[in-house]
Amino acid sequence: MKELFSLLENSSYCVVLTGAGVSTFSGIPDFRGSSGIYNEFDADLIFSIEHFKKEPSYFYGHSKDLIYNLEHRQPSIVHRVLSELEEREIIKTIITQNIDMLHQKAGSKNVIEVHGSPQEYSCLVCGKKYTYEYIAVLLRTEDVPTCNECGGLIKPDIIFYGEMLKQDVIEKAIEESSKADILLVLGSTLVVQPATSLPLYTIENGGNLVIVNNMETPLDGYAIELYKDLGDVFISIAEHFDIDL
Ligand SMILES: [Zn+2]
Repeated sequence: MKELFSLLENSSYCVVLTGAGVSTFSGIPDFRGSSGIYNEFDADLIFSIEHFKKEPSYFYGHSKDLIYNLEHRQPSIVHRVLSELEEREIIKTIITQNIDMLHQKAGSKNVIEVHGSPQEYSCLVCGKKYTYEYIAVLLRTEDVPTCNECGGLIKPDIIFYGEMLKQDVIEKAIEESSKADILLVLGSTLVVQPATSLPLYTIENGGNLVIVNNMETPLDGYAIELYKDLGDVFISIAEHFDIDL
């Protein structure tokens, strides 16, 4: 892993892209993968905007472990090392496909959530905004949170299937990927947009791609370094950079 250490040490603008593999690593089910507990439900249905509008209790009932018991989840070594490397100004930005907020919980400041965030909520009727904390408390007694102004249905600002990605967020992610001299892809199979195309902006602008994922990705051929095991890689990085965990 000497190559990777040297790339990180000499990088002037390292950007990280994280996917479901990083969440699975801290015990959060990969709800779109094959081994998640969501197999017994229909993950496509949980995150379908059409279905949410018809039967919101399906989403709120089935997403509890994924989203609303986060206080019981701890950031993994991957989240903690990334946060420390940002503190040391080696990493500039984390772009994440995850909706578990664990990068923020680990202390990372500059996080771009391309699939939205359960940190914020909006009433689908009047647009009133709510916070995760408010909704999490409400869900202890209610099956579905409704607006205290108009009684409308409240939805998390997560991008559901059938919804457009947020253009300003995507533009920011493209800008950061283009600036990156290293894009470090962690636990993403790079098959869902915008993750599929972000590495191409890095490469087009002369940056290097490093991929750590336990499965093949369509962009493996572009990577200058490829690793399989997130745990091995991050234990080694922590040792090399003398990071106390
Ligand atoms: Zn409302």
